[in-house]
Amino acid sequence: MSPATACSGAPRVVKSPRVITTTAWRRRGLWSALVFLVIALLITLVWLAGRYEASQLQSRLERDVAEAVGDVRSALTRNRQSLQALQFNEPSPNDWIRDAQNFLRQHRELVRIEWRDSAQKITALVETPFSAPVFNRTTRTNSQSEIVHTCTAAKRVGGPAYSSSYFVMLAEGVGIEVMDLCLPLVTSGQLTGYVVATYSLPSMLNELISRKLTRGQEVSFTDGDGTRLAIHGLARRTNRIFTAQQLIELSGNTLVLRLDSWHGAPDLFPNVLTALVTAMSLALIAVLFLLGRDMRRRLKAERDLAEALAFRKAMEDSLITGLRARDLNGRITYVNPAFCEMVGFSAQELLGQSVNAPYWPPELADEYQRRQAIRLAGTAPPREGFESVFMHKDGTRIPVLVIEAPLRDEQGVQTGWMSAFLDMREQRRVEELSRASQDRLQATARLAMVGEMASLLSHELNQPLAAISSYATGSTNLLREGNFTSADLTLAMQRIAQQAERAGKVIKSVHDFVRRRDQAREAVTPQALFDAVMPLVNLQARKLWVQVQLRAAASLPQVLCDRTMVEQVLLNLARNGMQAMDRPDISRRVLLLEVKRHPNVDEHQLMFSVSDIGPGIAPDVAQQLFTPFFTTKAEGMGLGLSLCRTVIEQHGGNLGFAPNTPQGTVFSFTLPLA
Ligand code: ADP
Repeated sequence: MSPATACSGAPRVVKSPRVITTTAWRRRGLWSALVFLVIALLITLVWLAGRYEASQLQSRLERDVAEAVGDVRSALTRNRQSLQALQFNEPSPNDWIRDAQNFLRQHRELVRIEWRDSAQKITALVETPFSAPVFNRTTRTNSQSEIVHTCTAAKRVGGPAYSSSYFVMLAEGVGIEVMDLCLPLVTSGQLTGYVVATYSLPSMLNELISRKLTRGQEVSFTDGDGTRLAIHGLARRTNRIFTAQQLIELSGNTLVLRLDSWHGAPDLFPNVLTALVTAMSLALIAVLFLLGRDMRRRLKAERDLAEALAFRKAMEDSLITGLRARDLNGRITYVNPAFCEMVGFSAQELLGQSVNAPYWPPELADEYQRRQAIRLAGTAPPREGFESVFMHKDGTRIPVLVIEAPLRDEQGVQTGWMSAFLDMREQRRVEELSRASQDRLQATARLAMVGEMASLLSHELNQPLAAISSYATGSTNLLREGNFTSADLTLAMQRIAQQAERAGKVIKSVHDFVRRRDQAREAVTPQALFDAVMPLVNLQARKLWVQVQLRAAASLPQVLCDRTMVEQVLLNLARNGMQAMDRPDISRRVLLLEVKRHPNVDEHQLMFSVSDIGPGIAPDVAQQLFTPFFTTKAEGMGLGLSLCRTVIEQHGGNLGFAPNTPQGTVFSFTLPLA
């Protein structure tokens, strides 16, 4: 697992190009399928609507043809009765003709009525007044056999019989289809004759049916093979035809009535259903379109979000500042890679941790827990940040600068804390380097001063010593030669004494020069001395992971001292103690600075001590401890302790050391009370 993945608390949302392509193709496929289905649905719906309309038309046509057949039947029945009525009361031929003519005038479908006797000879006949006679002698003779046949059938059944229809030629190429009805006349059970009525099939269509026909309909009689015998109505010849036909069963003949209806293809909105379906389909398409647009926007937003997240993640990964978020219960909810790297733990090890985070140094855990409790209680941390110490997984202590701020959601409600951590190790190293070089500079300056003092002394002492030497040599010569007076020797001795006195004065003046800081002595409280050195001591303590403890009895009196020099002594001793504890085998490092009354009865002095728990001082080292320039450290000067002792002795005190229990060393010195 890459460190970035291991350390990031944020979910990974950036997809690989391959995944994006596959997803895009799948999405495109789904959309195409959806569009295809919608179009198929639309086409099916429109087709079904058309079919429905066609079936409606067809059934209406069936209804019409059934009605027409009913009309024809009832008209034929009525006519039959009327024809029978012509024979009522045994009329004379003239009366019959008159009545028959009246009847024909009212019934255009009939073209001729004949009264025949029982031998089928014509007794009387009338022709329709509406057209020229259909039959002439020849044509009637042609149809005679048909009539005979029909009347024989009528006689046999004892009721009316119809002939098959047949074509009668009127003029060249023109004629009509006719059908005969033969009605046997029976008087007192005796067949007395026949009434033969001839129907014109075109006129039947015209008179009995046509009134109910609608535009675009065509009615016809056909025979068995579909040949049209008579036709009425001029239908529009459009591309769609509906046909219905029904049989008219008559005794002796069966007519086929056929109704054709021409109808255009259903319009775009042929009926309410189609309109409704289309409207709904359009609404569906609109919804689909809106959905698609919404989806596109969503996808774009998703892409933008993914890009923003990727950008944020790249930013987080490149940060060198550690980031950590905690919720209101103190649980870690997020850490960035820099933080993981800083403390050496992976995000998985850190997320969800609340009490005793693994990067808290054990010796500071109590303090950190208190600090966390204060933070969770709602106290805002200082904006400028504070310093703290973390522990790397390998045990190394890391100084960090912590800046905390409340974490708020979009409603402004606090959901936790966000903390930024700056690793201060490098800064500390630079500080330490500059302090060490400062120390070295001071030491060099002190050395230079010592050198200056030495040259001053040698220069000043040279003259008196040379004078003493020459007086002594002169006196020795006089004594050897024996040629001297006591006055000469006295003078020489006096001169020697004068020069020795002068040398003493030189030394005193140098001593005075060293002691001229006497005027700087002042009365200070021990606490003030500690307060002055603590910042410097703490600075080094943090670097070496030392815990510094102060112990000062309450209301101690002031001491009289050159505070700068005494502070220097405290600093030196504290630094030596801390450096002695800077070893890997010492994990709990405590330096104790203490001041109390002198334990050995002397109530005019206070005793200061600096105790460490380092390895202690070996006997061979102890012998040379205060010797100037003795050091066991690679970068040491070996002047610290000797200088300390000088300063303390100048103040009339004592500097000493003793082993600490159970281990380490205690350096202690006394100072006079003010
Ligand atoms: P420097 O610190 O420059 O070495 P010092 O005169 O201050 O010079 O110390 C001399 C030596 O005394 C040190 O090098 C060290 O070996 C030893 N020493 C001083 N203080 C301690 C101490 N608290 N524990 C052990 N050794 C010490």
